[in-house]
Amino acid sequence: MNLLQFIQEYPDEASCRQKFKEERDRIGIVCKRCNCTDHYWLENKSSYECKKCHSRTSLRSGTVMENSKLPCRYWLITIHLLTSTKKSFSTEELRRQLGHKRYQPIWEMVCKLREVMGKRDDKSMLTGHIELDDAFITTEVPEDQKGKPRKRGRGSQGKSKVVVMCESPPRDTPKKGRKDKKPGHLKMKVVPDLKSGTITQVAKERVDGESDLTTDDSTSYVELGQLVNSHASKVVKPEEAEKVLPWVHTAISNVKRLLLDVHHNKLKPEYLQYYPNEFCYKFNRRFFGEKLFDRLVIAAVSFSPDFKSKIYNRSYCG
Ligand SMILES: [Zn+2]
Repeated sequence: MNLLQFIQEYPDEASCRQKFKEERDRIGIVCKRCNCTDHYWLENKSSYECKKCHSRTSLRSGTVMENSKLPCRYWLITIHLLTSTKKSFSTEELRRQLGHKRYQPIWEMVCKLREVMGKRDDKSMLTGHIELDDAFITTEVPEDQKGKPRKRGRGSQGKSKVVVMCESPPRDTPKKGRKDKKPGHLKMKVVPDLKSGTITQVAKERVDGESDLTTDDSTSYVELGQLVNSHASKVVKPEEAEKVLPWVHTAISNVKRLLLDVHHNKLKPEYLQYYPNEFCYKFNRRFFGEKLFDRLVIAAVSFSPDFKSKIYNRSYCG
């Protein structure tokens, strides 16, 4: 769907609300009080009423829009912009495009959509041949570390740690000029440290037990063999990285470029996870084309984010 089609199909608040309602109707409403699935629609209350116990469920409750006062149209426009572009948008750019005055509600809206993307991807495990590696992503120095001497390299306060996992089965017929493996699904998880226990737990929750895992020979990965069918821990020289772990490295450099280009590396570490969520969600659905819009609308009405509104005393964060 291009911009013109979007404007024609969703010209006003009523048509956007109708779109969310249609998707909710398709999924079905479950009464919170009695689990009944039969409901009336109360147009003037914008709510469903349970046919059995008459308790009401608003159109927004249980969806990504719960507790939000922003118009449905903002949500749908943002879903359209996020799914129709290869890159992404900074909150400030979206705020300008929507013509909204305040930064905070727009920032919360996009964070919630990115959380929904993460929740949707968390429902599946990676299987088959999988590469795993860690990466350091530039983030802002945490408040309590500001003014302290900066450590350099891997332990720097301005770096966040991310575990990256990507399915990469070997190609049946290797071709010149292409990687020997083809990319499948991708996952990224921001972690507090790179201790063996932390990484093993992250992998356990995301990697199927029958998988064949490839990593470098870091000591952080020594316990991974217990989780999977096989674990190849390879000594990787920099010039061989492209061959041994091609797709995690490509994904890492692409996400780093995105964070620099769009978000200017000005992300707070505690909110970093939202951004790889979006990157992975779109990467994992890169062949969906126009269907991606509907898929994200469905995900958006299926999950209510457990988002704790944090107050921002600043004008910019991603
Ligand atoms: Zn009920």
